[in-house]
Amino acid sequence: MIISMKLHSTKEEIAQVKARIEEFGYKVHSIEGEERVVIGAVGVGDVTNCLESLEAMPQVEKAVRISAPYKFVSKEFRQAKTEIKVRGTVIGGDEFVVMAGPCSVENEKQILESAEIVARAGAKILRGGAFKPRTSPYDFQGLELEGLKLLDKARRATGLGIITEVMSDRDVPMVAEYADILQIGARNMQNFSLLKTLGQCGRPILLKRGMSSTVKELLMSAEYIVAHGNPQVMLCERGIRTFETVTRNTCDIAAVAALNELTHLPVILDPSHATGKRSLVPALSRAAVAIGADGLIVEVHPNPEKAMSDGAQSLDPKQFAQMMEDLKPYIELWKRRPELAAQHVAV
Ligand code: PEP
Ligand code: MN
Repeated sequence: MIISMKLHSTKEEIAQVKARIEEFGYKVHSIEGEERVVIGAVGVGDVTNCLESLEAMPQVEKAVRISAPYKFVSKEFRQAKTEIKVRGTVIGGDEFVVMAGPCSVENEKQILESAEIVARAGAKILRGGAFKPRTSPYDFQGLELEGLKLLDKARRATGLGIITEVMSDRDVPMVAEYADILQIGARNMQNFSLLKTLGQCGRPILLKRGMSSTVKELLMSAEYIVAHGNPQVMLCERGIRTFETVTRNTCDIAAVAALNELTHLPVILDPSHATGKRSLVPALSRAAVAIGADGLIVEVHPNPEKAMSDGAQSLDPKQFAQMMEDLKPYIELWKRRPELAAQHVAV
């Protein structure tokens, strides 16, 4: 069950409602928005009588039963897309938002050049890893704090927002100090203590799908972050592991459409990790627009041959500019996609 309190309910009123929910055998999770408090009731209890009793309380705006195990992130909870504002750009709104930049922040020149290149071509957010999850312990692990400072420099130079990965709950406060969006990598999608910490970090989150995770598991992980207090979550399809080897991962493109049916959270596609090959990135990006993703996160490097990670899947500056140009007519159609009608019906 989800219980929305009336605007500006007092602490006492909220406590009374929580106590009533507990009397019926449920556990309580609340999300405190700027204006409105929303309470989630989870567990096993007497649903019918509890709903009836809550709706009779004057401070309760609405109490609804939600059958999905992911409650706050489900479409049953909210039809309208969650809009996430990052430095004047809205993700999940009327703009198809492109986040782009190198896999890793390597040095000042590289990240500043990358930022200029992607900003000029129309990206709104700069990506770049300062903490890198690498399969081999001998590969480049990222510049860590120095990398975050370089991202900040690139933000000041271009006005782009910054997205960067955080790998451990220990580093959340430091990364949140520098980043506009915290990226949670595929390998950490089910790092539950990290997810809980993100609930309190005060920054939007881009949660990547684990390489062997189902869509429902992705939604449950998003639910962790939201249930712990942070509703600003976007999801990212980045390909899953299958028997196929032509591409680095297998892009589950239908997952984008499925997520748009199941959740109100914005959905981003990563065509770089999904394919592992720069030649396939533009076509998959067009597919992302066509299927109704809210944006892309793409790897772009000033000189991909010299990249310290993921060079083979990084676009060079010319390829990225061309791709952005070629996406324009598709984005015009995206603005009239049929799914919008359903999203805009608020419950
Ligand atoms: C990345 O974005 O560079 C990255 C490591 O992605 P993923 O977690 O999807 O593998
Ligand atoms: Mn990468």
